[in-house]
Amino acid sequence: MNRSETRPGHWRNWAGNQSAAPIEIATPARVDELANVIGRAAVAGRRVKAVGSGHSFSGIAVADDLQIHLERLQGITSVDRETGRVRVLAGTRLADLNPLLWTLGLAMPNLGDIDAQTIAGAIATGTHGTGAGLPGLAAAVRAIRIVTADGRDRWCSPGVEPDLFAAARVGLGALGVIAEYEIACLPAYLLRAREEPARLGDALDGLDARLEAHRHLEFYWFPHTDRVQIKVNDRAPEADFAPLPRWRERVDDDLLTNVLFERINRLAAARPTLTPRINQISARALSAREYVDRSYRVFCTRRSVRFVESEYAVPRAALVPVLTEMRRWIDRSGATLPFPVEVRFAAADDIWLSTGYDRGNAYIAIHQYHRLDHRPYFAAFEAIVAEHAGRPH
Ligand SMILES: Cc1cc2nc3c(=O)[nH]c(=O)nc-3n(C[C@H](O)[C@H](O)[C@H](O)COP(=O)(O)OP(=O)(O)OC[C@H]3O[C@@H](n4cnc5c(N)ncnc54)[C@H](O)[C@@H]3O)c2cc1C
Repeated sequence: MNRSETRPGHWRNWAGNQSAAPIEIATPARVDELANVIGRAAVAGRRVKAVGSGHSFSGIAVADDLQIHLERLQGITSVDRETGRVRVLAGTRLADLNPLLWTLGLAMPNLGDIDAQTIAGAIATGTHGTGAGLPGLAAAVRAIRIVTADGRDRWCSPGVEPDLFAAARVGLGALGVIAEYEIACLPAYLLRAREEPARLGDALDGLDARLEAHRHLEFYWFPHTDRVQIKVNDRAPEADFAPLPRWRERVDDDLLTNVLFERINRLAAARPTLTPRINQISARALSAREYVDRSYRVFCTRRSVRFVESEYAVPRAALVPVLTEMRRWIDRSGATLPFPVEVRFAAADDIWLSTGYDRGNAYIAIHQYHRLDHRPYFAAFEAIVAEHAGRPH
């Protein structure tokens, strides 16, 4: 996964749809340096924003005055093996954190589908994985070390400055620059991944029971078809360890998910009327597979085909009506959509700005290839979810 592009005076996010020309970029190597940078900026009346690895699709990470990168504030600073709590610096990328945790016999309770984000970027924006019983990543945070706009460096937690803690867990970078987190991890665990093609109707029938039965469940629906690819992950004992052979990983994840999918999208962009046919073929080409691997390797895959995304959380009962209305809009509008729609689930939490605040959700994420216009599709989707108590992610 490429990082966002940063050189003096120029910043672009991963999707390439947001850019900024910061006046200055600061890369503090210690937390006291970070506090000095922010304190000086406050006195000068400057606007400050931390950025992670630029994987947000919205303009949330656009910083055009003083942009702060925490790439020199990385790594685990302490671990309590009894409780599974670790302290981790905010600039640590998930791709680096997960193997480090594993060597300590620990793992994140849940993850999203990539690991290119920084821990701070992921937590601050309410990043989630899938699993009806599992809330987003921010729910694992037990304490936060934050440098606020006045340059003060302090820890907050449910017992110390509880309001700051409550707001800063999913704080969108607005409350200060987070330097470090204390996170509650689980003992390292394996997951058995089962993936299989199915019809959309079959995926939706008995969904509640299947969500109860599996730790993680998601599906990808191919627009213009009634086909889906269902993915289910459950914990597995160590004796079952059976990762995909390296060649299969290469074929599935590098060749099919990235190289071939890029070609498919280029073809769909050049000849939009072929898209429904292409989607039929793509959906049928996906086969079933099963393997058991370290949890973080099962959760996260590499994505190199660029896209923009819009995701909304809706109450679980609204999933079928929303998908039905989306299908009607696609048929009516003549839109051609080569990217699958991703459907995931998460449990309620108590985090103020989280999409999961006080409500378990179904998450519907729509994507458009970066060379195609996403605006009519996204506008239609947003109008539909607005009628179903949709919360934007
Ligand atoms: C290919 C792809 C797949 C994705 N998959 C998922 C997924 O499975 N689930 C999901 O929920 N999301 C997913 N996302 C969204 C992604 O997790 C979020 O956009 C996340 O914020 C990206 O982290 P980042 O490090 O790139 O942060 P950035 O996009 O750089 O920043 C995001 C926000 O975090 C703030 N921030 C960053 N560092 C700090 C700090 N130290 N202190 C305070 N604020 C800070 C920034 O100011 C900004 O407001 C995906 C995105 C992409 C491109």
